[in-house]
Amino acid sequence: MSRTPPKPLAHCKRHPSAPAGWRCDGCGASLCPECVEAKRMQTVDLLVCRLCGGRAETLLVHRSEQASYADRLGQVWRYPFTRQGLMVAAGLGAMMAFVGFMTNVTLIVFRLAPAAIGAGIFWGSFFAVMRSSTRGESEVPTPDFGDVFDDGLVPALKGLLATSVVWGSLLLYLVFVGGWDVFQYVDRLLSDPMFYMTGRFQSIPGETLLHDPIAWVLGLASLVYLPMALMMAMTSNSLLDIFNPLKALHSMLRLGRDYAVALGALFTLGLVYAAVHLVSSSLREVAFEVIVSRWLAQVLECLVFFAMARVLGLLLYTRGDAMGYGDPGDYITSVLPADATPRTSLRVDPAPLPSREPATSTPGAPSPEARLEELSALVQARNVPQALALYSELSFLPKASITPAVHLFVGQAAAAEGDNDLAVRALESAADSAPDDPLAPRALVLLARVLGERMQEAARARDVYRYIVDRYPDTDASRFAQARLPPTS
Ligand SMILES: [Zn+2]
Ligand SMILES: [Zn+2]
Repeated sequence: MSRTPPKPLAHCKRHPSAPAGWRCDGCGASLCPECVEAKRMQTVDLLVCRLCGGRAETLLVHRSEQASYADRLGQVWRYPFTRQGLMVAAGLGAMMAFVGFMTNVTLIVFRLAPAAIGAGIFWGSFFAVMRSSTRGESEVPTPDFGDVFDDGLVPALKGLLATSVVWGSLLLYLVFVGGWDVFQYVDRLLSDPMFYMTGRFQSIPGETLLHDPIAWVLGLASLVYLPMALMMAMTSNSLLDIFNPLKALHSMLRLGRDYAVALGALFTLGLVYAAVHLVSSSLREVAFEVIVSRWLAQVLECLVFFAMARVLGLLLYTRGDAMGYGDPGDYITSVLPADATPRTSLRVDPAPLPSREPATSTPGAPSPEARLEELSALVQARNVPQALALYSELSFLPKASITPAVHLFVGQAAAAEGDNDLAVRALESAADSAPDDPLAPRALVLLARVLGERMQEAARARDVYRYIVDRYPDTDASRFAQARLPPTS
């Protein structure tokens, strides 16, 4: 029952209290949304590091590391109490109350139909909540009983089979160990006219189990099994999997602590249900307005069952891969929630960053080295106009004396400013000066886009794309380039 504890999440290099959602390709810094900038190049947004202009890679983690299952469960009690949740509970409660009323008043043969409909409605909604939570949705789904078979009968059968791990095992125990004579019981039942008139069952000698410690162990073990049986009923292709204890045990061990957390949550909700049931039983007995009180009782119970189904759905959403459910890649997500978006558009940082080395100020004419340092300071400070001006002035220097990141920054900025010639020069320099730098294919993609989409030089753009595909195979850049080449090339 162990799994590696979640890795501590990285924090931003500049803002140590902020969790990082990106890592810079260029300088290796962990970055928070403040420190990442989305730069619009024509139609694509590129995420870049605001420290160095390098590409910011989104940090990926497993869903259980983004937020643990226990953390996600913290909000589970709120789940039914949304406008949508209450409306669905009100609707289902009305249907269940009506169906329940029908099962009480008619002969046994007529009772079976509403009882089956009731089971279909209950389990159809229960599995619908589980499934929607497994998909990561946060609202109670509106139930859809459009298909009697798939939305009612199948879920009812699944619910019956899954819960049979509890009632079935106790019945079997009663028969094989408790010495309960089933045939005699069925005989007596079928010869009892009251059974046909009111559907009254004879009592099953279940109280003998109360004094049998083995029956208690069996009952508790089957209750521990029940949540797994319900999850298997929802996720497995074969319903027989429910009765494969080895598979169930394997999944429980892999879920480890999280399965125990789910059991604890369900036990707590079971106690809530018991309390609600006490209230709802007395509501059902209120003589006047009988339908209204039945309805209220059903609504209260629905709300508890929504929360129970949510507990299981969230477990599958967070850790379903441990049960072999879905594609492992589905469980990998960005560290920060999707609404943590970086800043868009290019703008000058109000608080310029200190340059990596303090610029040596030389009196009189500054040396090329000093001017290069000035350039990298301007780039770090996102001072676009001055950086572009200084870069143009320094064009007499060998390309390699400027880092690829600075070339790339200037290329991106010039393209954003509409200075296509400068953009082409800077982007070519970025790729030429360090062809093995990971920034090189990126610079070439931008170069091809500037050529093809801004300067209408389709042939040159195609040459660049072809070069990217040959020189940098199996990179994002080559896939991007391949998609822009005619299929025959
Ligand atoms: Zn960086
Ligand atoms: Zn930051």
